[in-house]
Amino acid sequence: PLILTDFLDRAVELYGNKLAIIGDDRSYTYAELGERVNRLSHGLKALNIEKGDKVAYLSPNTMEMLEGFYGVFQVGGIMTPLNTRLKPEDYLYILEHSECKVLFVDSELYPLVEPILPNVPNLKKVIVQGTQRQGEGENYDQWLSQYSFASFDRVLLEEIDVASLLYTSGTTGKPKGVMLTHRSNYLHALSTQHHLRVSDQDTLLHVLPMFHVNGWGSPFYYTANGATQVMLRKVDPEAIFKKIDAYGVTVAHMAPTVLNMLLEYQKQKHLHVANQLRIIIAGSAPPPAFVAAVEEGLGWEFIQVYGMTEISPLITISEIRSQYVDLQPSEQSKLKAKTGYAMIGSKVKVIDEHGETVPSDGKTIGEIVARTNGVMEGYWKNPQATAETIRDGWLYTGDMATVNELGYIEIVDRKKDVIISGGENISSIEVEGVLYHHPAVLEAAVVAIPHEKWGEVPHAVVVIREGYELLEEELIQFARQKLAHFKAPKSVSFINALPKTASGKIQKVQIRKEFWGNRD
Ligand code: ATP
Ligand code: MG
Repeated sequence: PLILTDFLDRAVELYGNKLAIIGDDRSYTYAELGERVNRLSHGLKALNIEKGDKVAYLSPNTMEMLEGFYGVFQVGGIMTPLNTRLKPEDYLYILEHSECKVLFVDSELYPLVEPILPNVPNLKKVIVQGTQRQGEGENYDQWLSQYSFASFDRVLLEEIDVASLLYTSGTTGKPKGVMLTHRSNYLHALSTQHHLRVSDQDTLLHVLPMFHVNGWGSPFYYTANGATQVMLRKVDPEAIFKKIDAYGVTVAHMAPTVLNMLLEYQKQKHLHVANQLRIIIAGSAPPPAFVAAVEEGLGWEFIQVYGMTEISPLITISEIRSQYVDLQPSEQSKLKAKTGYAMIGSKVKVIDEHGETVPSDGKTIGEIVARTNGVMEGYWKNPQATAETIRDGWLYTGDMATVNELGYIEIVDRKKDVIISGGENISSIEVEGVLYHHPAVLEAAVVAIPHEKWGEVPHAVVVIREGYELLEEELIQFARQKLAHFKAPKSVSFINALPKTASGKIQKVQIRKEFWGNRD
């Protein structure tokens, strides 16, 4: 069976003396990592953690979290990472809903869960990692030191056993617990390492948080290849550039917002940047100009990927295929800014409402559906949502997209966010893109509101930049100059801040609530 501990075994066997992890204040070889993992498994066994039990981690990217992956799998447990930017009531919800038995929490984040811990009876033990303050419960290093480094008698697993329970971002409702099996994580890792050309010569800087699915898979394939993994506790441009230089980092995965910070910092400080690096972008489609700015400004190779928690997560990649390398650089940037084409192990289609594949004309919109090795087992405790999402073996992503003549998919909008006005589909993202060009607009979200004649019409919710004034009519006129009239907002409301998830995605459901009973 395909079990994720294989990846650690391979690294210990082939790369035992090689540097595995560079942490905040310590570093370990793969042999040492293997021993620490054994120790952790002995400790978990002493806590009676058995096959199928969930173990939660609330941690920034640390070596303690990385060793947790394999330590938990050895006892047959299920890793349940928690987003570090949630509110205490969200932690209460997820810790209860997941039925976690043990929580490992970084001491910096302990205050976030402290108030709710007494209300989670299923939690048997809380262990604090990092430098601890008084009264913060059991200390990880002390707890671990009681146990032996000796090899651990692993619990027997099947490849369809669940390895991780990951909660979605909660952009469109309450976060859903996604069950990913050893098999799905394993096959996803094999496919991704191929596309990202991961090797034992690589040094990865862990910029994307490992608690989120975008960062989740990477420890598997970088470990399997004996690459060195550098931990990053906080996203900070100075720290990132320093680590890249100090450790000869060759690869990093990050969100466009982080890359933007790096570009700004580099400009301010006139930094000369080492360019042995390739960057993999996950999460949101950046404009082509941004791709060019990164590749020219920083000298780093840019690759975009698309995915979602339910599919481990990645299914498409935007790399330029060899038949298109002769395209103009500006054309190449346009392709790289798209969400790309199917990775190995995934079949991806964009289909219309009758299930027919849409033409590759770059303009007909359909929903992305996928059949992939990385597919989830289902949503934890939610068979109904599972049945709605996976139909006839295809996972319905809820993301709407077009496909161009070269076969590159481009996300247009989430299905729930598309505005259907008089039979026309309007991409809320397209309208927002125009509004952002108005100098007074700091942030904008466009949502459907009900309309007697047209069914739905676009409505804009806008946050005005400080020191500016803006009238509703003025913004509508501005949009009409740049958009077909039916796409321009019919009305505008102004607010102080948009509702967002912990990872910064705008929660349009919250905005729509004001105008609809139960559209979603
Ligand atoms: P929830 O499912 O709880 O509402 P979520 O869908 O935001 O939250 P994630 O699984 O973290 O939770 O995010 C996946 C979504 O992110 C995708 O469905 C898609 O809408 C968006 N996304 C991912 N990659 C890209 C990309 N490259 N370009 C544009 N959008 C992307
Ligand atoms: Mg989702």
